[in-house]
Amino acid sequence: MTSTTTELLAALGVPATAFTGGQRTVRSPIDGAVIGAVHDASAADMTAAIANAQQAFLAWRTVPAPKRGELVRLFGEELRANKAALARLVSLEAGKVTSEGEGEVQEMIDICDFAVGLSRQLHGLTIASERPGHRMMEQYLPLGVVGIISAFNFPVAVWAWNSALALVCGDTCVWKPSEKTPLTALATQALFEKAVARYAGAPKWLSQVVLGGAAVGEALVDDARVALVSATGSTRMGRAVGPRVAARFGRCLLELGGNNAIIVTPSADLDLAVRGILFGAYGTAGQRCTTTRRVIAHSSIHDELVARLDRARAQLKIGSPIEPGNLIGPLIDQAAFDAMQAALQAAREQGGEVSGGERALASQYPEAFYAVPALVRMPAQTAIVKHETFAPILYTLKYETLDEAIALQNDVPQGLSSAIFTNDIREAETFVSASGSDCGIANVNIGTSGAEIGGAFGGEKETGGGRESGSDAWKAYMRRTTNTVNYSRELPLAQGVKFDV
Ligand code: NAD
Repeated sequence: MTSTTTELLAALGVPATAFTGGQRTVRSPIDGAVIGAVHDASAADMTAAIANAQQAFLAWRTVPAPKRGELVRLFGEELRANKAALARLVSLEAGKVTSEGEGEVQEMIDICDFAVGLSRQLHGLTIASERPGHRMMEQYLPLGVVGIISAFNFPVAVWAWNSALALVCGDTCVWKPSEKTPLTALATQALFEKAVARYAGAPKWLSQVVLGGAAVGEALVDDARVALVSATGSTRMGRAVGPRVAARFGRCLLELGGNNAIIVTPSADLDLAVRGILFGAYGTAGQRCTTTRRVIAHSSIHDELVARLDRARAQLKIGSPIEPGNLIGPLIDQAAFDAMQAALQAAREQGGEVSGGERALASQYPEAFYAVPALVRMPAQTAIVKHETFAPILYTLKYETLDEAIALQNDVPQGLSSAIFTNDIREAETFVSASGSDCGIANVNIGTSGAEIGGAFGGEKETGGGRESGSDAWKAYMRRTTNTVNYSRELPLAQGVKFDV
């Protein structure tokens, strides 16, 4: 165990017993070193946690929302005070370069700020009634226990997007983090508990973390007391989770895989496009749901753009994410590297011309999996291009007309993020119109990744249809009631119906 991880966990308030002596070994993707051994929960532990959360909900739902916001404000303070330590832990456990680890914690702080303001703005509508002396209104009321399942690549921010909103909405949370990143989850929970300790009168069990793999996740998914299951991960996971929640008429918020494209048109600022594509494709070593996986470039600029991308790609510095200057950290594990190699092989068989993609730094880090970012010139959008491979692979395609480019962009099963680089207002407006991109996120002159908290985040089709984070995403965490109040001395029925004896 590296002393750094141990020190960080101790500084963040995690007791050593929580990350030592358990049956699940945690390794850093940086060098493969063992950094913890956590205790997986059982399905029975999950059931007990849900019962506790249900109990806490009965008290929390009656606390005025702005007072609930105060707890989230205190949690935001803990995050600010511990940003560097938690970010470093994200780097050590998930392999993110330092600025991206810090960005992840900043995202948590931003959603806390958003949620605090929101706690005074959980508003419904008043609606004109057709009946005299009647008033109609809509209220949003606390929903219940929210189950949060998160992926390894945003090990803590995704939980914060959900829990900050859920808590101000009057819900309680049970979190099943990725089994690949339990340490950052434990640290986040410790910081949350510090905030709870500073908040007078918080019920116990407002938010709990329950470690384990898919089986523990299933116990959360199947429990009828969990009103909302918010699950982030692969489409494969969503396919398993969605129907199970639907079978018990629970509510589901799915944030699944992406296959995001950038269209580059003849009028585009190519300098901007190259920068946007490089970060989008290779940042976080291609392990973001919003990673740019496809470039669809007009034939008149395709060769120049791709040559520039290829040159820049080859210069990206690969190495330990905690050493300054490195931009490409490791893949999460060997399975991710093997999947990348299989995808590149399939691309070759489907006519692709591959640059890069080899294993890097194998002698320095024999137990870790770094890869040279890959660029693949494809003759057409073949089967492998339509598949999300969670690795730094960028496929490039050519188009002749904008309609053709948009059709290619939309012709994949996923629908998360998309972008166009253009200086032509007709092209830009067409792209964001009803006949343009079919994704939940459609950008102009910025890349596909790096969304801000203020907007709703999520995507269509196999991405699952969920929306998290800003705008009115909070409504998913509340139940809506419609109230008609009669303040007259009559009892007129709606639609003029008569029912008098
Ligand atoms: P994954 O699907 O392997 O695991 C995600 C989580 O689901 C883990 O906590 C896992 O234990 C749990 N899980 C798996 N099967 C389950 C089941 N049957 N029942 C309950 N829980 C189950 O994903 P990953 O490899 O950790 O993350 C990468 C994937 O996540 C990519 O596809 C990426 O696009 C996606 N992702 C999407 C978003 C988004 O907002 N759309 C954000 C981050 C990651």
